[in-house]
Amino acid sequence: MEETVRTRFAPSPTGFMHLGGLRTALYAYLYAKSHNGKFILRIEDTDQQRYVEGAVQVIYDSLKGSGLYYDEGPDIGGDYGPYVQSERKAIYAEYAKKLIDLGGAYYCFCSKERLESLTDANGNRKYDKHCLHLPKEEVERRIAAGEPYVIRQNIPTEGTSTYEDLIYGTINIDYSELEDNILIKSDGMPTYNFANVVDDHLMGITHVIRGTEYLSSTPKYNLMYDAFGWKRPVYIHLPPIM
Ligand code: GLU
Ligand code: ZN
Repeated sequence: MEETVRTRFAPSPTGFMHLGGLRTALYAYLYAKSHNGKFILRIEDTDQQRYVEGAVQVIYDSLKGSGLYYDEGPDIGGDYGPYVQSERKAIYAEYAKKLIDLGGAYYCFCSKERLESLTDANGNRKYDKHCLHLPKEEVERRIAAGEPYVIRQNIPTEGTSTYEDLIYGTINIDYSELEDNILIKSDGMPTYNFANVVDDHLMGITHVIRGTEYLSSTPKYNLMYDAFGWKRPVYIHLPPIM
């Protein structure tokens, strides 16, 4: 049997819906509907600092007002909920631990000062994997002592990542261009980098349709799909609207 196509629109309520967002939603909707699939709405509200009051309601209203009816979402439910990321913290914590066990992530206790000291003369900063090499006992002791930490992705330092985008074709990116970004912040909230992968997998998303700003970070997500042994989705990155 053919796998059911499932696409999603995953806006962040950090501002009001604009044309670019609506265009992404339209493509995701049409792709799902033209394949007898499902279109899902997921609210990506992990950046609580930038949360804009009322933005979620505008998302619901804009989609419904444009006829882009979603099959699953926060206000209508579905089998893969909750559909709001801030309600999924426990899920991310569980998968972050798994990823650490798999060698794909690690605890980092570096202070702000230490991180700032890594800035080079040009103002660029790249995390130096300092905490990747901490002994396991030390990590456990510091966590037990209540020291704040983040969880970072462990990106290979060399090699090239390859994947296919349905619009842009073969994308090659050297791992050296990427860095060990934070997956779980010190308050336990995930970043987009982690939450999008866990949710797209758990929500059965088969086709990821989004803006080109994610084209170059997709290798990081693929590393996680591969580490977990999950099937990568089909990627469709949409060129910016001019
Ligand atoms: N929350 C992200 C955004 O608004 C979603 C990107 C994606 O579709 O994966 O840009
Ligand atoms: Zn560190």
